[in-house]
Amino acid sequence: MALNVIMMGPPGAGKGTQALLFAEKCGLPKISTGDILREAVSERTPLGLKAKAVIDSGELVDDVTMIGIVRERLLKADVAEGFVLDGFPRTVSQAKALDGIVEELKRDSLIIVAIEVPDEDLLRRMTTRRVCQGCGRNADPAEAKLSSCPKCGGDFSQRTDDNIQVIKERLKVYARDTEPLLDYYNGRQTFCLIDGTQSPGRVSEMLLEAIKAVSSTDSATRTEPGQRVERE
Ligand SMILES: [Zn+2]
Repeated sequence: MALNVIMMGPPGAGKGTQALLFAEKCGLPKISTGDILREAVSERTPLGLKAKAVIDSGELVDDVTMIGIVRERLLKADVAEGFVLDGFPRTVSQAKALDGIVEELKRDSLIIVAIEVPDEDLLRRMTTRRVCQGCGRNADPAEAKLSSCPKCGGDFSQRTDDNIQVIKERLKVYARDTEPLLDYYNGRQTFCLIDGTQSPGRVSEMLLEAIKAVSSTDSATRTEPGQRVERE
């Protein structure tokens, strides 16, 4: 089956990093909503132009437009073997719309990966990690000894106290909007909970194992009647 993966996790859980690692390992496109919005805007698709007008006016892109842009992205040829969706869906209504798209396009079941990290750990991580003042990216562990960003030359510095309030607010928004999604997906055979308190390397291994396990389960359950099902 195609590996149609949704990567979920609170801010600071390493979701983006893990999404990228997994996508690279499996040769799948990593699709983030920021990237596809930028793509749609630069390709001047009707939805892209609509989104651009919204962004330019300082508003958030509404669900219907966002869902339309995600759908357009999932029509491209490079997702035939699967994709890793990072940052979408964020709400139950977006998740329902995505299920509708998967059904409409007759795609394999979504594999939902939720990286779990307790709030205290997230706060500690986010207040001690270093951020590039130039491009905004986080310094990764391999860059621990560098004082400036190898990508843009900006200075790495730690978040300040003012930012702690911002981080707490982001965690609150995640709990309010995105945690109900875990309940929405919980119970599906293709739902994987990953312990995000482990090292990034270990999380990446666990994630790969979990996805392998659920993707084979799913294809076994899809076996035609009469065929031998190799399960347990
Ligand atoms: Zn930078």
